Amino acid sequence: MAWEVTRTVRVRLDVPDDRKSDLHATNDLFQHCANRTSEWAWRYPDEECVTSKSDAEDALYEDLREETNGLHANLVQKAIKRAIKDIDNCVDDLADGENTSQPEYDTFSIVYDKRAATYYRDKVSLATVSGRVECDYDSPENPEGTPHGDYLLNEDYSFSTSTVHYDSEVDEFYLHAVMEQELDVDSPEKAEDSNVLGVDCNVDDHIGVTSTGAFIGNADYLNHQRREFEKRRASLQQTGTRSSHLTFQRIGDRFGRWSEDYLHQCSKAIVEEAHRHGCTHIALENLEQIRERISDEKKFQQWAFNALQTMVEYKAEEYGIIVETVKPQYTSQQCSKCGCTLEENRDGQHFECLDCSYTANADYNAAKNVARKLAFKLQQGQKSPAGGAFCQYALQSGIMTVSDTSVSSDTPVSG
Ligand SMILES: [Zn+2]
Repeated sequence: MAWEVTRTVRVRLDVPDDRKSDLHATNDLFQHCANRTSEWAWRYPDEECVTSKSDAEDALYEDLREETNGLHANLVQKAIKRAIKDIDNCVDDLADGENTSQPEYDTFSIVYDKRAATYYRDKVSLATVSGRVECDYDSPENPEGTPHGDYLLNEDYSFSTSTVHYDSEVDEFYLHAVMEQELDVDSPEKAEDSNVLGVDCNVDDHIGVTSTGAFIGNADYLNHQRREFEKRRASLQQTGTRSSHLTFQRIGDRFGRWSEDYLHQCSKAIVEEAHRHGCTHIALENLEQIRERISDEKKFQQWAFNALQTMVEYKAEEYGIIVETVKPQYTSQQCSKCGCTLEENRDGQHFECLDCSYTANADYNAAKNVARKLAFKLQQGQKSPAGGAFCQYALQSGIMTVSDTSVSSDTPVSG
């Protein structure tokens, strides 16, 4: 059995100035085909909408080729496919009683598969209304450790159907390159199963957010209590008497006990969440790297992180659950659904994927990435003559089974 795993990398295209209008014209026709398909297939509420791509192609393809004066055959097909897929989603929404309307297309977004584009590691050749245009990639000077280096230049990945976008604010074109890796693995029945709970830990908002969607503890509250304690301590220090010194110690001890107890409750909730979902592992982000997120004066937060992690390890042991850490790179920027890694995906507590539009609480999205990272790490470590083991990670909606050696998509496609 083969599994495909995908990563999306956003790369700026160096489009020759005199060819920009060709890309715009191509997009206009591409959107025209999608709109025409949508108008034709949308029959709600009088009739059932058409959700068959081949029915739509039979009815529209010849006309659209003519209307667009011979737009590349594959672009016409991809536009039809896009509209039909969106209508299919609308039909699902309607069935769920949600409000929806006929899809309309007006933004710049063209789907290029390998018939309408030729992908290279440093450039792409795109079919347009007037022949091909070759665009170089704007590559980072040192691609190592970037999505560009990890996927775009990685020979283990090959190009799959990708999209070209245009940002009018900066007048630039971007390729959302979908990189694909195919893996051969044994059937899950034979494999030794692991099940990972991912936890994203924070110094503000919730202390821990799990890949199963549990929001645990309140870091803002913990920080507030700490500030109150500091205030009282500062005012006692000014008094300077012997009795104030004793009080000083007492409230210090009391706060220490209180905060430790608070973190105990949090760690307990995390481990119980893992136990409830039958997890064999808990994945946390590597503390050394988390420290970089915490400013120097926040020693208390460092202590809290340390304490929480130690407590989780200690409690997990009672349940026979193993705690492991993963590198936190990309966990907050990467889409846990499609793998698209962009800084712009995250805006504070809000995560919205610029590629697939997946939206979620940012920490919840990160927790799923943390879980997946460990699942892959385990998968890699367990490769044996018996074949690749399957690792799973627990999600709100069930368990995700993955198999990969480093990083991969949330939605492996069995093929
Ligand atoms: Zn996405």
